[in-house]
Amino acid sequence: MRVETNFAAATQGFEPPALGEPYLLTPGPLTTAYAVKQAMLRDWGSWDGDFRAMTAELRGRLLALTGDAAGEFDCVPMQGSGSFCVEAMLGSFVPKDGKVLVLANGAYGLRAAQTMQYLGRAYTLIDKGDYLPPRGDEVAAALDADPAITHVIAIHCETSSGILNPVAEISEAVYAKGRKLLVDSMSAFGAIPLDVNEIRYEAMVSSANKCIEGVPGFGFVIARKSELQAAKGNSHSLALDVHAQWAAMEKTGQWRFTPPTHVVAAFLEALRIHEAEDGVEGRGARYARNRDVMVAGMRELGFETLLSARWLSPIIVTFFCPAHEKFVFSRFYDLMKAKGFIIYPGKLTVVDSFRVGCIGRMDEHVMRRVVDAAGQSLREMGVDTAAPPRVALDERAKLAG
Ligand SMILES: *Cc1c(COP(=O)(O)O)cnc(C)c1O
Repeated sequence: MRVETNFAAATQGFEPPALGEPYLLTPGPLTTAYAVKQAMLRDWGSWDGDFRAMTAELRGRLLALTGDAAGEFDCVPMQGSGSFCVEAMLGSFVPKDGKVLVLANGAYGLRAAQTMQYLGRAYTLIDKGDYLPPRGDEVAAALDADPAITHVIAIHCETSSGILNPVAEISEAVYAKGRKLLVDSMSAFGAIPLDVNEIRYEAMVSSANKCIEGVPGFGFVIARKSELQAAKGNSHSLALDVHAQWAAMEKTGQWRFTPPTHVVAAFLEALRIHEAEDGVEGRGARYARNRDVMVAGMRELGFETLLSARWLSPIIVTFFCPAHEKFVFSRFYDLMKAKGFIIYPGKLTVVDSFRVGCIGRMDEHVMRRVVDAAGQSLREMGVDTAAPPRVALDERAKLAG
């Protein structure tokens, strides 16, 4: 499908995607900088010193984002998508006789529970439904009730609703009860601080194609070295063994199996751009502006967000579908795409919704155009207000209550 849009007029400072290429308002893969794509135009030998230096730089730069001045942590990149790394983390750090408390409030929390099932290791689940945050006091109560629990896994930003979960509060509860915390920070790391001096955890995972704005192909585990040491022999899987990957990388500087060389080269360029943008703080501030401009404009059209301001992340925002009888999501999607914007379907079970991502190579000027495109698309559908149905607002009231 050809997209007839004059992208260049609307972006100030940021290069637009190539002509005909829409912005991806999705939580990864996402719109990347031209320099990131360009970095892939060269082949690298995986054993060669140049590529080993790139791997070392990548690990060092990622570690620096955690504030680990004492050198207590290390970074282990792993081939595959984010879920491969979540599985690698759970399988490597949870001993075979351990037990995990999974905190779920959306698809990714439930996926962590499903992973435990595949691993055949003990777990228990707190499922808060579509979007309510797991709170410190309920974590503490669950840990008191079950002394067999050794680890807790929390989702930093639950990308299915866009909720920013209270990891600091959860961490305090976990360590007050003498247990260990693992964090899925896939869609938050790089834009929302997860400083080891502020929030205690043993290990976290993220991937190349989220807030660092690389292309998909690998993820990474950042873990306490003592945990990496102790993980020897835990893993159920050869390819997903974080200890083995770490030990080999420490010894040879290489990945154990074929690395995604081009993706690594692109990611290094993305990390340099991230640094030039003032790191986590600058990246987070741009995403927050993207969210604020986009949400304010969408509200003017009558759209309502699922979450109240307190839980709204700068990563992705869930909107209720309008109640208007002429609103059809698939048509809205096509009209938005024709204007150069790919949006994301919702994942709520009770009411219809859709999502708009705030991450990727775009700024508030682009977000204003997203709002204009949404208004124009509604007019083309004959929808004069985007106000949600009563049932949606009743759902939301439960959040406040
Ligand atoms: C993206 C994401 C994942 C990983 O998904 P993949 O499709 O395997 O990359 C895991 N957890 C969260 C919270 C995510 O946003």
